[in-house]
Amino acid sequence: MKKERLAAAIFITVVFFAISITLVAQIISTRTHTLNDLNTNISNLSHTLDTYSEGIIRQSEMLIKNISDITEIYGMGADQKNNLKRILSEQDQLLIQLNNIVIYDARGDKVISLRDGNSVNSNGADRSFFIYHRNNPSRNVFIGPPVVSRTNGQWVLTVSRRLEDKEGVFNGVAVLTLNIANFLQTYGKLDTGKEGTIALTSGTGTLLIRYPFDAKFIGRELSDSPLFTVYLKKSSAGIATSVSRFDKIERIYSFQKNKRYGLVTTVAVSMDEAMASWRRQAEILAIVILFLMGCVVFSSFFIIKEVRRRIRISKEISEAKASLASENAELQVIATEDALTGLANRRKFDEALVAEVAKGASNKQPIALLLIDVDYFKKYNDNYGHIAGDGCLQAVAENLKKTISETPYLAARYGGEEFVVILPETDADSAKHIASKIGRNIKLENIPHQQSPLGVVSVSIGVAAGSAASLTGNEAMLIELADEALYEAKSSGRDRVVISQREIT
Ligand code: GH3
Ligand code: MG
Ligand code: MG
Repeated sequence: MKKERLAAAIFITVVFFAISITLVAQIISTRTHTLNDLNTNISNLSHTLDTYSEGIIRQSEMLIKNISDITEIYGMGADQKNNLKRILSEQDQLLIQLNNIVIYDARGDKVISLRDGNSVNSNGADRSFFIYHRNNPSRNVFIGPPVVSRTNGQWVLTVSRRLEDKEGVFNGVAVLTLNIANFLQTYGKLDTGKEGTIALTSGTGTLLIRYPFDAKFIGRELSDSPLFTVYLKKSSAGIATSVSRFDKIERIYSFQKNKRYGLVTTVAVSMDEAMASWRRQAEILAIVILFLMGCVVFSSFFIIKEVRRRIRISKEISEAKASLASENAELQVIATEDALTGLANRRKFDEALVAEVAKGASNKQPIALLLIDVDYFKKYNDNYGHIAGDGCLQAVAENLKKTISETPYLAARYGGEEFVVILPETDADSAKHIASKIGRNIKLENIPHQQSPLGVVSVSIGVAAGSAASLTGNEAMLIELADEALYEAKSSGRDRVVISQREIT
């Protein structure tokens, strides 16, 4: 169950991660798309407005050239004024942005105008376009900085041309004024948002028109702005961002410089406004991502907890296994070893006897058994006490071990003060020889025993031997015979070895 929960948690984590990454990628891609769409839209707008402005200026240029040519050819005499006035009034309908057309003589006095207005000052010598043409011999039209019309008090753009006499001497200026209001009306029809701006700037960086209109911006110098110092130097059209020097709003804008007149059209939209819908979407996605991340953290927490728990359990299991194994090994020893003497115990002896008989049978070998009993041991106990008796049994066992060390024989405690030795592949003679050696060595141990006629501890040994094959399935027979022989050894005076003479059947 836990395993399934862990797998589910890992799966959920991976899925949440994948979803979060996808959402982040979507946020980034939506932003790129939004910006791309915006760039396309404002580029199209600035391009269209550039064409629109060029059309008006081109028409104005043609008009002012015609009028100035006619003026130069026919002069500005009193008889010409009516003709000129008629020609001018014919132009009025051709250009809806047209505010006025005025011809000034060399002193700046107004010779004739399309609309007279109520201006008292009819001298234009102080106007920037007049000063420009007086000082500049170029016959090209000049698009001057915006001025307030003296005819009707409106902001106007001036498109002007120098007039010359036949000798090429400055002879006045023909000027056409265009209503800025007309441009603003067109700009106002385009949707650039609440904080968007549209501007027309002269090639040298003078702000001619700006929508939304504010008189204080008109005529401002922008030649030191990045648009003029950086971007326009690289390309005549493009996209840039900047923080407005007028209102400190960050805007993304497209710019387009007119090839013929150098006029620069810019369409700018507020970054905040343009990206608002994207930002809202991003905010919602961010909340979703945060939620998913929370889920990931929560399930990671669970995974870590579960993994830790598993590590702890598997550690506990392996520790338990190790301690069980060592306990088992101990039990194994306890199960097969006699606690007092360290010899094999009765259980081990029974198993070994069956195994050795089987082995001897398959190898067609004899097998022998010694049954060893300590003489007068009851008396020893009675005389020296039970604890000393235990010590005596340990000493006898140690001696026995030493005698049969480095042989394949197995010594075991049969019970009480009786020991038994299995001698595989050993016949009766060899067995007797070993038995005598065992008995001799124990006596030589010189364990004092006042109650024994010998004065030291001795043993009696009954020996039985026969073919292993005839003992198979009847292993107890060997013990029986050895026991009989032992009984004989006891009854015939103890401290001796007696070999069973009975046939094994
Ligand atoms: P025999 O010479 O005929 O063998 O006489 P015995 O006294 O040795 O034989 P008996 O069977 O009469 O006495 C054996 C004694 O061995 C009786 C018992 O108290 C003692 N005995 C048996 N097991 C232990 C033991 O583990 N420790 C001690 N101290 N004495 C034991
Ligand atoms: Mg006994
Ligand atoms: Mg005895």
